[in-house]
Amino acid sequence: MTVGVKVIKKGDITPLEEAYVPEVARGLKLTISRFFQNTVGKPENSAIDTVKYPEEKRQYPERFRGIHRLTHRADHSPRCVACLCCSTACPAQCIYIEAAEYEPDDPRYGYERFPKVFIIDELRCIFCGYCVEACPCDAIRMDTGMHMPPSTERGHFIYDKETLMSFPGADGSYRNANPRSEPGEDAFPGIDRERGH
Ligand code: SF4
Ligand code: SF4
Repeated sequence: MTVGVKVIKKGDITPLEEAYVPEVARGLKLTISRFFQNTVGKPENSAIDTVKYPEEKRQYPERFRGIHRLTHRADHSPRCVACLCCSTACPAQCIYIEAAEYEPDDPRYGYERFPKVFIIDELRCIFCGYCVEACPCDAIRMDTGMHMPPSTERGHFIYDKETLMSFPGADGSYRNANPRSEPGEDAFPGIDRERGH
């Protein structure tokens, strides 16, 4: 039995085309024209969909999770009561808190604690927002509208309590719209020394 061989004839291409010279030239022409269009041409004609950060910034969506902040009370003390809910909920284990008692002459003494140390390692953070959801006091938020400034120093990404309290929300406020009644105020829902247990 003989096996038939089908011969496929090559198309008619010139040696120049076979060397890809015209195609290389066409590709280079396109690359060079796009280069000048995107670098020295009018910005509106640019085909590059990037911004010149940090001189230019995009408008972030309203629910964008930015770097954390610790919210303030009216007296500028931290709203945080060092309950550790956020650090417990954090899947990246990047929140470290040391709790402390208020001074004995403070009405909060014996009823609330405050964070003597509050550190977030923003490089380990995965920006899941669980810490914000877990907080019973609305004391930690990610509504700063900022992302971390770039740095080559590892230590620049370890944010301590003072740093976290130095950031305002995107609305410029260090507090939040969620009211908080303090011990001694009529609207205070919990217990205090005057009302007793
Ligand atoms: S956003 Fe997520 S990973 Fe980051 S500190 Fe909060 S809980 Fe941890
Ligand atoms: S930020 Fe909120 S959840 Fe975290 S320790 Fe303070 S009060 Fe608790």
